[in-house]
Amino acid sequence: MKKIAIFGSTGSIGESTLNVIRENPDLFKVVTLVAGNNIEKLIKQIEEFEPTNVYIIEKANAEKIKERYKNVKIFYGKQGMEEISQLIDFDIAVSALVGIAGLKPTYNMIKNGKTVALANKEVLVAGGDLIMKTAKENGAKLLTVDSEHSAIMQCLNGEMNNPIDKILLTASGGPFFDKEITNKITVEDALNHPTWNMGKKVTIDSSTMMNKGFEVIEAKWLFDIEPSQIEVVIHRKSLVHSMVQFKDGTIMANIGPKSMQIPIAYALNYPYRLSNNIEKLDLFDVTDLKFEKPDLSKFKCLELAYTAIQKGGCYPIILNAANEVLVEAFLNKKIKYTDIADGIEKMMEMYEKRELKTIDEILEFDMVVKDKTRSMFLSGTQPH
Ligand code: NDP
Repeated sequence: MKKIAIFGSTGSIGESTLNVIRENPDLFKVVTLVAGNNIEKLIKQIEEFEPTNVYIIEKANAEKIKERYKNVKIFYGKQGMEEISQLIDFDIAVSALVGIAGLKPTYNMIKNGKTVALANKEVLVAGGDLIMKTAKENGAKLLTVDSEHSAIMQCLNGEMNNPIDKILLTASGGPFFDKEITNKITVEDALNHPTWNMGKKVTIDSSTMMNKGFEVIEAKWLFDIEPSQIEVVIHRKSLVHSMVQFKDGTIMANIGPKSMQIPIAYALNYPYRLSNNIEKLDLFDVTDLKFEKPDLSKFKCLELAYTAIQKGGCYPIILNAANEVLVEAFLNKKIKYTDIADGIEKMMEMYEKRELKTIDEILEFDMVVKDKTRSMFLSGTQPH
């Protein structure tokens, strides 16, 4: 039986992971649950899955849990996150915190040579070089649960010696693919994703296509490929999860139902597939598999992500940090939709190129960029 740690258990990926575990009680046992603030959901999870270790941000919430569950080891605060991510009593950790919050815990687990199933793409956007090097040095295995990257990983099974022409990274196009992008777009409009039901931050990132930009960067690190060899392909139906085109012209595609449980289960039970009750795809219902080019002048965030990874050094960190601040501000109705891309662009123009080699340097620079972004775009703003 594999012991599983879930960082972000109360989120969308966390809950899908728990569904996989619930359906396969003979294969997986939850040992660690890490949540942010949702104590009600976390308590239900503790009742059902009886973990050994639990984390929640606030001390007061941690104390409430401690009172009820005497046998569970409870962690909280910054120090608690450091400690829980240094534990080694698990076989696979699902890294599904959101944003830069996931970088240090994921780094710690990789440094300890553990196997990590990565959902939290911001980890590779901000720390790709360091994470990949650290994984190699410490014999840690990095699996992916992002559906596109899982698809690519599967297309590459047994193909490592065959030269790749390009990776074709599919994108749904989000809610605004057929619409004009204006500063009138509301939070509700942007949260209305046509095909996937996800956490708020990644849903906004999907609407701006920053999410796809992050995935380009993620693919560069996971598959050691040049960004120029990663092509984003709009595929509205989200049935083809991504493709690899080889030098002989062959294209391998991964096609299947739209459910995050499938890539999560594949990572947890890697390299073996698990049966599930998800409705199978009936190919006779698939009337067309249309693919379109994204308009980079419209989806500026996607273009900025390509620029950031092509320039390298500190630029992906700036991209991620400014995006995190501006998306949160948009969700809190403090800035307009178009301010997200415009603000990130200004932040990327502000800094000279520099290399950040250690985890502390990356985290410190992330904070500097966030503070600067807040002072430039948010000081004195009121919710509208
Ligand atoms: P959610 O917002 O739904 O969940 C985030 C989780 O992280 C929650 O459990 C939240 O806790 C917890 N969390 C956030 N910040 C902290 C913190 N500082 N300390 C402890 N816990 C914290 O996000 P998603 O599940 O949608 O996404 C997670 C990651 O996976 C993102 O990076 C996203 O890009 C990526 N991803 C998501 C996909 C999806 O389908 N959702 C698909 C592929 C990748 P709480 O809610 O209790 O506050």
